[in-house]
Amino acid sequence: MATYSITPIPAFNDNYIWLIHDTQHAWAVDPGEALPVLHYLNHHQLTLAGILLTHHHADHCGGVATLRQHYPSLTVIGSPKDPLPPLTRAVQEGDTLLLAPLDLTVTVIEVPGHTLGHVAYFGDQCLFCGDTLFAGGCGRVFEGTAEQMWHSLDKLNQLPASTRIYCAHEYTESNLTFAIRVEPDNPDLQQRLQQVRAARSQHQITLPSLLAWERQTNPFLRLHEPTILHHLEEWIGHPLSTDPAQRFSVLRQWKNLC
Ligand SMILES: [Zn+2]
Repeated sequence: MATYSITPIPAFNDNYIWLIHDTQHAWAVDPGEALPVLHYLNHHQLTLAGILLTHHHADHCGGVATLRQHYPSLTVIGSPKDPLPPLTRAVQEGDTLLLAPLDLTVTVIEVPGHTLGHVAYFGDQCLFCGDTLFAGGCGRVFEGTAEQMWHSLDKLNQLPASTRIYCAHEYTESNLTFAIRVEPDNPDLQQRLQQVRAARSQHQITLPSLLAWERQTNPFLRLHEPTILHHLEEWIGHPLSTDPAQRFSVLRQWKNLC
């Protein structure tokens, strides 16, 4: 049984900073701002041991400098391929990290697309994937190509179905509202959208997601579905090849305009 807990700390409008902690120590994933993290740590008498960064956007790493002032010996981990705040350890694909003194080891997965140096961290069936895979959707392709982003999502989709997805934003309702336009006849999607709308009307968090649910309802992982292909071709106005990266690119363009 896990000896740690994972707690969401809301930040900005719709970010979550994930805090992995036991009763004494904590690691923060993507602390875009420091104050809500410091508040939680003080309130629960926790010491911050380290930070995992997925990518360089300010809403993911803007709090690092202040947290470092409070905890000078903090471990800060991220990819050297993204322009991040100073790291104490630069990581790459396949590196394994023990989040000491917590009882959790994670592996680094490089997932370029949203940014070129975007990484995800996976361990003990938990995936911290920043702005790459979202519940019901995926991040925008800001720096990489559509093909790179598709490969990154496909890579994450190789993880076990039981993988819990700790992404960085509460976008689930708007993502599924778009998904149902792309695949209106998917009963799993209809049911999930209903559940998510009910949860959001009570201001409840919709995360973590489960990779099994994403395979059933996330159109970016369902590009092989005939209904999705039909709607993509209708939207773009010409037939598409069997190349999933091309289908991904069209779906991402459509979503960008919604
Ligand atoms: Zn981002």
